[in-house]
Amino acid sequence: MTAVAQATAPHTAPARTPPWLTVLKRPMGAIGAAMLLLAVLVALAAPLLAPYDPYAVVHVSIADIFAKPSVAHLLGTDDGGKDVLSSLIYGARVSLLVGFAAATITTVLGGTIGIVAGYRAGGTGTALMRLTDFFLVIPDIALQIVIVAIAGQSLFNIIVVIGILGWASTARLVRSQTLSVRERKFVLRAHAVGAGDAHILRRHVVPAVLPLMIANTVLVISLAILSESTLAFIGLGDPTVISWGQMLNFAFNRGAISAGAWWALIPPGLAIVWVVLATTLLGTALEDVLNPRLKRHHLEKDRSVAIREQLRMPIALPLEGKPGPILQVRDLSIEFDSPGGPLRAVDHVSFDLHRGETLGLVGESGCGKTTTVLGLLRLLPPGGRVVGGIARYGDDDLLALEPAAMRAIRWSRLSLVFQGAMNALNPVRPVGDQVAEAIRIHEPQVGRSGAARRAGEMLERVGIGRSRYRDYPHTYSGGMRQRAMIALALACHPDVIMADEPTTALDVMIQAQILELLAELSREMGMGVILVTHDLGVVAQTCDRVVVMYGGRVAEEAETRRLFADPQHPYTQALLGSFPDLEHPDRRLHGSPGVPPRLDAMPPGCPFAPRCPHAFDRCSAEVPPAYELDDGRRASCFLVEPGGSRG
Ligand code: SF4
Repeated sequence: MTAVAQATAPHTAPARTPPWLTVLKRPMGAIGAAMLLLAVLVALAAPLLAPYDPYAVVHVSIADIFAKPSVAHLLGTDDGGKDVLSSLIYGARVSLLVGFAAATITTVLGGTIGIVAGYRAGGTGTALMRLTDFFLVIPDIALQIVIVAIAGQSLFNIIVVIGILGWASTARLVRSQTLSVRERKFVLRAHAVGAGDAHILRRHVVPAVLPLMIANTVLVISLAILSESTLAFIGLGDPTVISWGQMLNFAFNRGAISAGAWWALIPPGLAIVWVVLATTLLGTALEDVLNPRLKRHHLEKDRSVAIREQLRMPIALPLEGKPGPILQVRDLSIEFDSPGGPLRAVDHVSFDLHRGETLGLVGESGCGKTTTVLGLLRLLPPGGRVVGGIARYGDDDLLALEPAAMRAIRWSRLSLVFQGAMNALNPVRPVGDQVAEAIRIHEPQVGRSGAARRAGEMLERVGIGRSRYRDYPHTYSGGMRQRAMIALALACHPDVIMADEPTTALDVMIQAQILELLAELSREMGMGVILVTHDLGVVAQTCDRVVVMYGGRVAEEAETRRLFADPQHPYTQALLGSFPDLEHPDRRLHGSPGVPPRLDAMPPGCPFAPRCPHAFDRCSAEVPPAYELDDGRRASCFLVEPGGSRG
């Protein structure tokens, strides 16, 4: 089979153990499930198991009241002379019904409100949370007593009241988790990929909050049973049915304590404890399984095939080589809101990107390089906005496109490799599915199997191997996760990939592999790559051209070779002065004194003036424009002004 044929062969995913089986393999899950199953079976088989019918009308004598445990009555009798064991068995039916039904109502209602409130910032979310706060300050039990007293003591009313009144705490809990999930990079990535709100909620947000909801449901089942017991204990239970709470009520109020009839009190109490313990054990095991981040396989051996072999594999992708820039950015300006007014984070940034080219965007932290990339993709965080400029891609201006058009173009034509791959991959979904998701969103005609096949190709292409298709992100090493992000970025065959610090936190060997992979893919597939980094070693190794940024502006732009050989801007010189030179290991390194300017304290004139060893009067009065130099490079410094003087 040829390499290309291998790349397009159908992917057969390895068989996986169903989650329920994994739960049962854990001691907590097995014990909890067995305890709960026993309670449910007892409830279901009550007519068969109970020695007597507790609902039957019987004539009793004095001797039958609070009779001690005996062969005829294994748990004795109650104040009415009825068999406690039979009441206990039938009581399981009512208590479990209340627990499960009320917990379902609470979880559905509270979960839905919590997810909507957390995902929808602004008016809707705020209004829902004010409503939640209102219900939270009202004591549940007091409201339950009032409503049951008014509505009537039927079992249906009790279930509905307990279920509905429990929603507020669930909603607040789920909202907090949703707020956290909404800000995570894998949700931002899903937005970037072009997924709509419904898709993101269904595939990313709900699965991420589900373990918490399950754990909460367990607690709610317990609370619902306890609430019913409380209502029954104070005489507001349904008088026509027998529940464990009702049994406790009768025992306490009809002299069991004074009669020393412990058998009328302890069995229903233990039954409640039994179910609470069972649901807690089972819920903990479920969360453990459903949230793969809790698994311990992150040190698992990397089973990927040899990277060199993968890099040599041909791929059936379009290889275009149009002349001219594929992306032209002119005067891009971005501001962020602040209490003191808007702050300029990116100021008149311009550059071109060509097919097959890797352009480095470098500078210290806070220089605006990541903001530039996020602004071009229209993925700025809340409070940030593009206030000027043009970003020409084909016939479109990326900065002026309608949101729907931008969503269609984003990822399919311009994609992003996020910084911190572990955070950008959804931890509760297999990696291959996440790659296929981007394909299905932008190319629905490909179909589910076609998207899976291509996702497998992409994983092969970046050296992971399709055998890891169904594995979760936590089972990948750091380098593999970053490769997976590159596969995701390549999934729709984009023209431009923007990589934001793609090798941060990776060791030098893996860093070299990732960079080599990016550069090779760029050349082979005719893509343009914008590489955001603060690492000059990465730039020297990977980039064809470099844009050096400082204080939100372009300080210098040049071919990498020229920039390293003869930097023109004093900031570039300072950067290179702090970079070790392997050819001259004895050379002293020179740092640049001071720190980059804060956005809210930007100096007038040249932003580098406070740190510049060559600054003169004009530097603090005027902003230096970008001067075009003879060799095609640009620098924003008065020192390179053609025919200029320091006056
Ligand atoms: S314009 Fe002035 S302060 Fe700015 S880099 Fe050039 S010499 Fe230094």
